[in-house]
Amino acid sequence: MKIICFFVLSLPLLAFAELKNPPVHYTVSVGDDLQSLDVSVCFDYALPSSLFANDGSGTFVSNIRLKTGTVLDFKIDRVKIPTTETDRCIFYDVLFQPRYRGEQRGGAETRLIDGRDILTSIGDWLLRPNPDPDYAQFDIKFIMPIGIYVSAPWVRVDETSFIGVNTAVDWEAIVAFSREPPGIVNIKGSNLEVSILGDFDRATAADMSHWIRQSAEGVSALMGFFPRSRVQVIISPSDRTNTTVPWAYITRGGGAGIHLFVKRDASLEQLLRDYSLPHEMSHFMFPHINSGDYWIIEGLPTYLQHLSMVRSGVITPQESWSRLYRGFFSGKQSGRGYTVAESMRRLARRGTYLHVYWGGAAYFFQRDVDIRVQSQGAVTLLDILSKYHDCCYEKHRSISGEKLLSDLDVLLEDDLFIRGKSVEIESDKFPDFKSTFESLGMQFLGGKPIFEDGIANEIAVQIMNPVGFGR
Ligand SMILES: [Zn+2]
Repeated sequence: MKIICFFVLSLPLLAFAELKNPPVHYTVSVGDDLQSLDVSVCFDYALPSSLFANDGSGTFVSNIRLKTGTVLDFKIDRVKIPTTETDRCIFYDVLFQPRYRGEQRGGAETRLIDGRDILTSIGDWLLRPNPDPDYAQFDIKFIMPIGIYVSAPWVRVDETSFIGVNTAVDWEAIVAFSREPPGIVNIKGSNLEVSILGDFDRATAADMSHWIRQSAEGVSALMGFFPRSRVQVIISPSDRTNTTVPWAYITRGGGAGIHLFVKRDASLEQLLRDYSLPHEMSHFMFPHINSGDYWIIEGLPTYLQHLSMVRSGVITPQESWSRLYRGFFSGKQSGRGYTVAESMRRLARRGTYLHVYWGGAAYFFQRDVDIRVQSQGAVTLLDILSKYHDCCYEKHRSISGEKLLSDLDVLLEDDLFIRGKSVEIESDKFPDFKSTFESLGMQFLGGKPIFEDGIANEIAVQIMNPVGFGR
């Protein structure tokens, strides 16, 4: 595949006020097979008492040792460092046994793509100290075989070096080694660094960039800016289904990451009409939520993806309303008499996720309408999210779903978010989206929106506004 790449020329240089002189230094020498690594980690000050990885890393990591030759024991997910140790460096070997069969259906994993490019989950191999203040940041230098490029979620210093925030070990992140150099998509000052792994039949690298740019522009049009200044985007091929993007997820470890599996013969047209990328990007409009409130975590992006796709011009307002209506309808149908909160506790069971995702989306739709109606269109849900971004968004910290909603209420100077949750999520079986549509003067016939007076109500027009996106 021919890559249109301005990687070397337009590399974003060190835009990290918060990152300087990290006290922890990694050097990672990558073998020609891309599956073996020699790693060293050196500390400017005291050695930590332990280094951690995930509980599967013992399969890959071996020969953890000090300069003296003393070998340290790796137990499940950690290595203890003797307090008597005076040397400041630790060395170890990594030999991946990447998956290559079947399709990925979870978070980050170590996987061989098309027999040549490698995805790694950093939890599988990067031994890290606890992220307390002494070890809050690190620098990492990769020594790569010729013609191989590295992608990571950290702030890039040059082609092979990064400075990273040492986020919690259980926050996933991906490092990928590939034959094609990454490309940069810049949106209003945010850099999305795109690595394409494996081969695609139809979409070119330029098509992929187009897709990412257009999706990011739609998401940027929601708050007036893209929610994160640097995003690692990884695209890998999928052969197993007929869905355009059969699987995608985000990572927050060390920075923002989006990993998409794309049907190998997908066309640009199909990519643009797929909701997955705007959905994943919208996840970054709010911080990591640690309370398992999937109705918030998934509901907000499920609502917002419809607004951003209209703003980026890939679907019409009419189609977006139809998609929302169909989604709410199927979400409600799949509730089986449970509230959204109850369905969330049964989320592993088949079907309940529809109820939870769309229940959350209907809740945020209702809040958006409430806020707009109350202010006669002067304030929107997006304004409140934007305010939240300015005052309270912390990229590397988790909050609870309850805290997010109460913060949104404080910014709104009302109690709509918390009150709405207790009614629509915890008491009723599903938010009453039909009444919300009625309040906008809308009905649906054959899944298509019909406006009462023949013309759309101003609030409805404002919600699905294709303007606000200058190009
Ligand atoms: Zn999602």
